[in-house]
Amino acid sequence: MSNIEHAAREHGFADADEMFKLVANVDVSTPAKMVEFKNWKAKDGTRSGLEPETKVYHILNLGAGVQSTALYLMSMRQDEPELVPVFDFAVFADTQEEPDEVYKHLEWLKSLGGPPILEGTAGKLGEDLLSGKNTTGQNLTRFASIPTFCIGEDDVEPGRNKRQCTKEYKTEPVEKTIRQGVLGLEKGGRINKNVRVIQYLGLSFDEPRRIIRVKERFSVIRWAEPRFPLFEMEMTRRGCVSYLETAAPGRKIPRSACVFCPFHDNTEWRAIRDNDPVGWARACEIDDALRAGGRMASGMNKKMFIHRSCVPLREAPIDTPESRGEQYTFGFTQECEGMCGV
Ligand code: SF4
Repeated sequence: MSNIEHAAREHGFADADEMFKLVANVDVSTPAKMVEFKNWKAKDGTRSGLEPETKVYHILNLGAGVQSTALYLMSMRQDEPELVPVFDFAVFADTQEEPDEVYKHLEWLKSLGGPPILEGTAGKLGEDLLSGKNTTGQNLTRFASIPTFCIGEDDVEPGRNKRQCTKEYKTEPVEKTIRQGVLGLEKGGRINKNVRVIQYLGLSFDEPRRIIRVKERFSVIRWAEPRFPLFEMEMTRRGCVSYLETAAPGRKIPRSACVFCPFHDNTEWRAIRDNDPVGWARACEIDDALRAGGRMASGMNKKMFIHRSCVPLREAPIDTPESRGEQYTFGFTQECEGMCGV
């Protein structure tokens, strides 16, 4: 069985053909069609059926983690010109809760003189959680929840809280930055029908299910379409790490996510605890606050935790032999907006 076939089965597809059809809208059912797919050009208009007068913007959703950094450098270096063009802009949505190393890495990316990097923010997510604010700063009865684990007295297994943080603190700031910073629109302004924004997302070959969910999100947006060059070049997250060893030798590329994000796996929790005391303290602070009876817990009859063991983070079993050897498949692959951890 080929590697691609193996990957397709691993992600629950019947075969590679089904995976490519669902994820990339292409048919690779014969070797000839596979060759055609691999030669697929990403020139403006040819894949979208756009009118020639359409103004196309190529924008990278920059998370400043491994995958989106790989795309940024590929664009600068024009390593994969058919799939990764020279971006007009890269947009970073700042929850103001990333680890320090992400902000340092972002500054390094900016220093390279590549595609301009624009930043947008909806506020400091953790502070808004603690005070029970939403992104408008007004409604104290509702705030953007993070995907915490929760358990009640009679529950055998923990449940998961709904997640609104990505939409409000990442997806919407990116859209606002594109509208105002790239297209020059005023608040509420309409996007001209001859404008098309192609957003490049750093979802890799090992995340096909996530890509399908992101495509669904974009399916209702008239003026934008997503592209997933890493999937198309069959590059996994590990492949991106190898690429970065060549394109950015000696540089450690961080995991980009809020320090308290419940999607972290135990390896990542250990790395935060051991290398980022400020980030670890912040994660523990938010975790403690989940059960301190403040606004975050109002209306909840279950206890909330950041760690999936439903144990306070500072006592969570992240050092046990099981947790060190685990193959944790939950993590950021469950983040269906395609904005976090990349
Ligand atoms: S990194 Fe985690 S906590 Fe932060 S916005 Fe994304 S899902 Fe929410």
